[in-house]
Amino acid sequence: MSGIEIFSQQANATISYIALFLLVLSCFYSTAGDKSISAPLWLLTIGILLDFFANAVAANASEAFIGGQNINGYVFVELVMSLLAMLFLFLSASSFFGAPPALFWFVASLGIIGVVTVGLFVFFLPDGNYVNHMRQVFPLAGVTCILVGLLSRLRSNRKNGYTFATIIFVVLLVWMLLRAMGMSVSFEDKAWYISPLLYILLALDFLIIKTDSLYQSIDRKNIEIKNYNQKIEEIIRLSPFPIIISRLGDDKIILANDNATKLFGIKPEEVERYHLKDFFADSDNRKLLLERLEAEKDVQDFEILVKTPQSTTPFWLLASANIIDYNNEIALYSAFQNITSRKTREILLKNQATRDPLTSVFNRRYFEETVNQNILDYKSSKEPYSILMIDADFFKRINDTYGHKIGDKVLMELASTTERELRDKDIVARYGGEEFVVFLPGIDEEQGKKVAERLRQSIAGIRITGDNDDVISITVSIGVSSSAISDNVDVLIKTADEALYRAKQNGRNRVELFSKQDMQAFEAEKHLSHKDASADVHPVFEQETDEEISLLDGIESNPLPDDENIVVEEEK
Ligand code: GH3
Ligand code: MG
Ligand code: MG
Repeated sequence: MSGIEIFSQQANATISYIALFLLVLSCFYSTAGDKSISAPLWLLTIGILLDFFANAVAANASEAFIGGQNINGYVFVELVMSLLAMLFLFLSASSFFGAPPALFWFVASLGIIGVVTVGLFVFFLPDGNYVNHMRQVFPLAGVTCILVGLLSRLRSNRKNGYTFATIIFVVLLVWMLLRAMGMSVSFEDKAWYISPLLYILLALDFLIIKTDSLYQSIDRKNIEIKNYNQKIEEIIRLSPFPIIISRLGDDKIILANDNATKLFGIKPEEVERYHLKDFFADSDNRKLLLERLEAEKDVQDFEILVKTPQSTTPFWLLASANIIDYNNEIALYSAFQNITSRKTREILLKNQATRDPLTSVFNRRYFEETVNQNILDYKSSKEPYSILMIDADFFKRINDTYGHKIGDKVLMELASTTERELRDKDIVARYGGEEFVVFLPGIDEEQGKKVAERLRQSIAGIRITGDNDDVISITVSIGVSSSAISDNVDVLIKTADEALYRAKQNGRNRVELFSKQDMQAFEAEKHLSHKDASADVHPVFEQETDEEISLLDGIESNPLPDDENIVVEEEK
């Protein structure tokens, strides 16, 4: 019987130790890396441990008392431990409140006074009643403190752990009060399991508190992110630059400040209906921006051509774009600057360098450079191309009859009709005076002749009103040359000019082609007349000299009749 009791006592103690060990383990695990709960939980655990050891000492004291020994020492140690347990629970409770560090010294002083008092009642004024009261009061006070501390935490959002702990300690307190009043004596014998049960429940509770704490820190982070986003929004709204934030995934606009909505001509409340791509006038431009963003994450000074629901003509913006984290989404932050006037100036300057100021078609230098490059490209693809030389007929007479201003007007009309009649990829340039040159990519000599003929007819249909309501018309002569003749732009121009010369000779207002036969005839003639040392060097095409090369050299030509003759002829 006694053997079973000893066994059961040992088993009880083992279970208590295991439960205590679990509590410590749980405290370790729960408080690791979490400063907000580590102080109260550790202080609570130490308080519980001290209380456990106080009880263990009390059990030893009972045995020693039965053995007839002086137990004053035991009682002193038991009470001091119980006192310390109470103080640790008090510290734990106060750290639930977030107590100041100075409180430690206050509690330490209280501890010293307590130890002295305990010593006094155990050794110098031994009083069993006092001792028994202290045995009851210390744990009761400790648990009450903890409850007050826990209650302070019940206001927080995530409070499952604290609620559970409050329930545990309320039950414990009630039980302790009942015991103190001698009302739970009946199951006092079996009350050994109360402690291990408390430890296990607390160990579980610590885990719940840890979970709560993790959720709390997530909540805090979310609030931080929200505040951060609010700050960003504020900065964006106050920015003097138009700024747009769009989702990278679906390109939808999430935020646009007032300057941006004004610039893009959209209503602030309708911002989210738009995608950023809606404002790109050129989709290739957008593709390039995205490619650069993918490579660099941050693009500065990127020029984009923008269209808006309101604007009839696109305008230029300078954009800086960054990829940012916005409201837990990957977003594109774009700031803009209107550079339309700068861009217009740039285009104007560029045009000044490449265009003829009177007619706005390209100038001769641009034509020669660009056509040279085009020919290089076409040479490799073996695609044909043609060149037209256009010269106004009797233009001097228009000037003489209607004045230079009307002459200019006629030239402008001539140029615009030519551009209108041709495709976008054809290059029209003013070669000089009343002479124009055209490059027709992908057009062979036969087609070139047809295009020239069509153009000639269109120009012949032009009617310009002079100062005295005179109706002025104009005709042109056109010379055609093509890739069948040469891939050298100078030679092409010269041969087209030669054909033009022939058109003039043959009566004007007509088209003439410089054919392959013309070329052969020309080469044969050249060969005959240059039987000297340089005979095998082509006089036009391979001569390495700076002097002006004329294709008319060696070609028998009739002199152009002068204006007077023509007038006379016509008058006849
Ligand atoms: P043809 O049929 O033989 O080409 O006779 P044409 O009178 O057109 O030829 P010519 O070369 O004798 O005269 C060209 C005239 O074009 C002379 C010049 O005053 C005029 N001209 C050249 N550039 C301009 C210009 O920018 N504005 C005006 N109004 N006239 C110009
Ligand atoms: Mg002329
Ligand atoms: Mg001329």
